[in-house]
Amino acid sequence: MSDLIKYFREKQMKESSEAILQARCPYCSMQCSMELIEERIVKRNRFKAKPNKQDPTSEGRLCMKGLFAHQHVINGERLKTPVVNIDGEFVSVSWELALEVIAEKWRDLQEEYGKDSIGVYGGGSLTNEEAYLLGKFARVGLGTKYIDYNGRFCMSAAASAQVAVFGIDRGITNGLSEIADAKCIILAGTNIAECQPTMMPYFRKAKKNGAFIIAIDPRETATTKLADLHLKVKPGMDANVVIGMLKVIIEEDFVDHSFVQERTKGFAEVKEQIKTVSLAMIEKETGISQADIEKAAREYGKAETGMVFTARGVEQHASGHQNVRQFLNLVLVTGKIGKHACGYGAITGQGNGQGGREHGQKADQLPGYRSIENDEHRKYIASVWEVDESELPRKGVSAYEMMEKIDEEEIKALFVMASNPIVSTPNSLFVQKALEKLDFLVVVDMFISETAKMADIILPCTSYLEDEGTMTNLEGRVVFREAERKAPQDVKHDWTILCELGRALGKEKWFSYKSAEDIFNELRLASKGGVADYYGITYERIKEEKGVFWPCPKEEDNGTKRLFESSFMTTDSLASFTNLEFQYPKEAPSKKYPLVLTTGRVMEHYLTGVQTRRSQDLLQRSLDAFVEIHPNTAKKYGIEEGKLIRIESVRGTAIVKSRYSEGIREDTIFVPFHWGDIQSINRVTSPALDPVCRMPEFKVSAVAIRPVHQQQKEEEKKYKVLTG
Ligand code: SF4
Repeated sequence: MSDLIKYFREKQMKESSEAILQARCPYCSMQCSMELIEERIVKRNRFKAKPNKQDPTSEGRLCMKGLFAHQHVINGERLKTPVVNIDGEFVSVSWELALEVIAEKWRDLQEEYGKDSIGVYGGGSLTNEEAYLLGKFARVGLGTKYIDYNGRFCMSAAASAQVAVFGIDRGITNGLSEIADAKCIILAGTNIAECQPTMMPYFRKAKKNGAFIIAIDPRETATTKLADLHLKVKPGMDANVVIGMLKVIIEEDFVDHSFVQERTKGFAEVKEQIKTVSLAMIEKETGISQADIEKAAREYGKAETGMVFTARGVEQHASGHQNVRQFLNLVLVTGKIGKHACGYGAITGQGNGQGGREHGQKADQLPGYRSIENDEHRKYIASVWEVDESELPRKGVSAYEMMEKIDEEEIKALFVMASNPIVSTPNSLFVQKALEKLDFLVVVDMFISETAKMADIILPCTSYLEDEGTMTNLEGRVVFREAERKAPQDVKHDWTILCELGRALGKEKWFSYKSAEDIFNELRLASKGGVADYYGITYERIKEEKGVFWPCPKEEDNGTKRLFESSFMTTDSLASFTNLEFQYPKEAPSKKYPLVLTTGRVMEHYLTGVQTRRSQDLLQRSLDAFVEIHPNTAKKYGIEEGKLIRIESVRGTAIVKSRYSEGIREDTIFVPFHWGDIQSINRVTSPALDPVCRMPEFKVSAVAIRPVHQQQKEEEKKYKVLTG
């Protein structure tokens, strides 16, 4: 061996090391855990992710997002210090200076314009501890009523519907393991195969056990392929199909009479209303034949056990709340709830979409799912926080409405944590213009996201490998996120940033936590006696028991895996039927905008792609946004496969490449929303809001399309500049 080779081998040995890290995927609500082997070989890090076979939810599976999640953590674009925007250039500054400037600016603005001149905008990917602390920071640190978060766009319709009908909002009423025994499963407006891939085997197992699967979706997807019956509904018409199914179920008497009588109220009205429902009319409006509606109703009605799952396809509408309630009618009328393999699930999208909405990030909520407008609830939280009840602000407004308040210049400064509203909010060109009016924008992020680009100051935060805490998965199981990798020196956890900002504002007394566990222990107390009661859950138990289901009011309790076995959580213990109201999207196709645009996700990306677009393996597999279009529709508009097309609505324009699919309705096009700038489909989408939960109507916008070649040069140039 030459001396040179020997030298390099020895050097390699000296500089090589291996670490095994326990980790939990930062992305979807399955929250799969894994072992990450990090090898350091001569200044290069090599990672290998291995699924955790003991994980009771993922059952030892990981999808590609989890496998490659670590790549964004080591991406060279990651921010390592606070940066300040000086004449369009981001310049590194110390934490001391950044915190001092922020506190001073916030104080000045509040002195001049009042406490509510600052808005706080959070995210459903924060840990429970951070979501809780962000709510406390807004109300106690800043004293503002304006706080909301991106989960408003995710779970608000299903959450508000479940609260109204069941008295509690927990994503899935049963543990996932029961799916295998359900004899009929309805998957409505959900593409689990791409959004929660490790959940799919539960449904495959059910199918193997003889389940009849009904999918309701305007597109053929990897999920609908599993179905025995695919109802390719017109976007926005899901609830009307369900009203048709209810008619068949009631008239052919698949009703569970004793359940309806003992456990519910309001059925008599529904029974009366159903007489006026015409299946022929429903067929005409929804695009689903009477025969298919009857088939779906009979299969679900006669099945001994059954589960219904909805997701954003049903919920992201200006009638999202009512849409979900029709699905809950279906569950109640057949008595398929509170028993083994019988239940309802709203499939949470974001990693901590569940926990993130329980502990105070929402405009109208205090921790434990308490109401900020309820005097008793206010008094209790004020006592936990050691403030006077009168000092707690009242309720603010929803996420999109906060953007309107910014546009009206009522909110002068915005603090954004774990979110990228310019890409995730509907009517995003309006949002961008509104944010330009802000006096001061502070963003906490790992990267210079599309929103962070507009910030005055960006504070760098830690990644999922570095920031420990708890997450609540889609089952309602509170799990522990280990964080065994050391954070870069000048990067801080979101909760540490909140504590330091609290200190800079002179509020140290309320923000002096030493660890995430300290915060969790306060959260437990704050949630005690609330609907989302975490009091009996401790770090020790979560680690030992591999997660604990909420509600769990006492340490001796096992947690509640299956809800509603003997009663609902309403004041009279009964579940409520909902009147039958036909729902229609706010925008209908017109001569000028003849097609329906619907949006969604792809397997490779998460939310606005800030992290997944910085994971090389994921980006390579899915580089650009696209529009899925039926070849007949494409032909009609002169659109060739793989070419750029312009999608226009009354609000704005996006440009993406065409992708033919015979699996989509001819009157509908589909675009995923993970990209920014000119590829951002939320430039086009509708901000019509649900009157109850303020969910925007992402899923139905009237649009026109045309090939870019009509003004090729200019558009291609714009596309290249904006996509790099
Ligand atoms: Fe699991 Fe979801 Fe992560 Fe995939 S994205 S590994 S399904 S948590």
